[in-house]
Amino acid sequence: MRDYRQFYINGKWQSAEDREVIKVINPATEDVAGQVAAGQPSDVDTAVKAACTAFKSFSQTDRQTRVDLLSRICEVYKKRSDDMAAAITEEMGAPQWLASDYQAKSGYGHFKTALNVLKDFQFDKTYANHTERYEPIGVCGLITPWNWPMNQIACKLAPALATGNTVVWKPSEEAPFSAQILMEVLDEAGVPAGVVNMIQGDGPTVGSAISKHPDIAMVSFTGSTRAGTEVAKDAADDIKRVTQELGGKSANIILDDLSTEQFAKAVAGGAKALCLNSGQNCNAPSRMFVPIARQQEAEDIIKKTLEKIHVGDPGSETTFSGPVVSKTQWQRIQDYLQKGVDEGARLITGGSGQPAGLDKGYYVKPTAFTDVKNDMTIAREEIFGPVLTVLTYENDDEAIELANDNAYGLSGYVSGVDEDRVNHIANNLRAGVIHINGATMQGTEPFGGYKHSGNGRERGESGFYEYLETKAILRKD
Ligand code: NAD
Repeated sequence: MRDYRQFYINGKWQSAEDREVIKVINPATEDVAGQVAAGQPSDVDTAVKAACTAFKSFSQTDRQTRVDLLSRICEVYKKRSDDMAAAITEEMGAPQWLASDYQAKSGYGHFKTALNVLKDFQFDKTYANHTERYEPIGVCGLITPWNWPMNQIACKLAPALATGNTVVWKPSEEAPFSAQILMEVLDEAGVPAGVVNMIQGDGPTVGSAISKHPDIAMVSFTGSTRAGTEVAKDAADDIKRVTQELGGKSANIILDDLSTEQFAKAVAGGAKALCLNSGQNCNAPSRMFVPIARQQEAEDIIKKTLEKIHVGDPGSETTFSGPVVSKTQWQRIQDYLQKGVDEGARLITGGSGQPAGLDKGYYVKPTAFTDVKNDMTIAREEIFGPVLTVLTYENDDEAIELANDNAYGLSGYVSGVDEDRVNHIANNLRAGVIHINGATMQGTEPFGGYKHSGNGRERGESGFYEYLETKAILRKD
């Protein structure tokens, strides 16, 4: 059992054994896998003081100093990748292949990207009568979720450090083990005292203390739209910058001009992508729009695809989907499954209860509903589980209208042959990232949402601007 009752403040591990304890449950076994301490607002205050002091010198470091620091972080991170992946599997249930090849690796990738961007980033841009200068904003409060724990923190922490800021970070209380390991990595890499501080704890206590703290200049939040709204309200009194990476209900539009083979590939690919990480991806293609004339064909492919998905022990090599993160999440999904039936959607496969032979652990059957109408709860709300909703459309403009008729706007997917039609759809979807014909992100493109999916963009060069103030220095000849 892991015992991590300590916080990292001002360059040291500080015991927090006198704090209340948060138990961390392994979702595959339902056993307690470890514990962390529940931080208090006073811990946040101590961390912010350390970050403020460190900001004075760290904000003045030159590019090469920070290039060296990020290089060391990459080296140590690589060495600890297996530990990181094991922690992620234990805390949130990602199968080993996903935890090591994608989850842990994505964290490394964001540090590496920030390192590359930093080498050439223009902190000063000179124009005829002025210089535009980009300066670190100050102490940054980072609040992160459990579903891609390393991905989410690294795409905040790496640009924050690259641009000379200091940080107070609260990881998710559901996934605190990988956070502990990342802090060990940063410590070993020699991050200067006070530059990164980590307090474990829950959202309403530690998260809210970060959002409200008057000496924090900006908060970068990833998580639910509900909590993201609270963060913005808490941050409002001090006019903090708030960036929000929130929920999604992304549309996947499949066009009728695909051949039988292409259609099967697009539909099966969408259904399988939805089940990746047990459906717990913010950008999951959870609403599939199929041409009404090919509805039956799509349903047959979806049924075959989902019934082939191996759900089970995250430690097994043949597992594609592990459990969902917690009992609460499992129950939420069950409630949505019931709502789908109650509101008149038709099950293609899956449904309520645990998959056969898996009565321990928070496992969910890969499920698809068809005959879904856009006003049904399962079409409007983020389920965050392996539950696909299939909707039909008559023509491209109707597909666009239905896709955009949702509060979220994180990602969009379109598959088709005719380039003009595909481009028309891509140009008209109100979402931050559009994937055409199965194209995937490489980690450097801007990532973020429209509407209730958030504010701001992470990753690559765009991610740097989140952590920078812009100063115009005017000159007279
Ligand atoms: P969550 O909102 O419950 O928690 C996220 C973080 O916020 C946690 O650290 C939590 O402790 C903290 N928190 C909760 N209430 C808070 C409050 N009042 N003030 C401050 N902090 C608070 O989300 P989750 O369940 O951990 O993650 C799943 C959600 O995250 C999904 O909605 C998913 O779509 C979203 N997400 C979005 C992205 C993106 O990039 N857009 C990426 C990953 C996850």
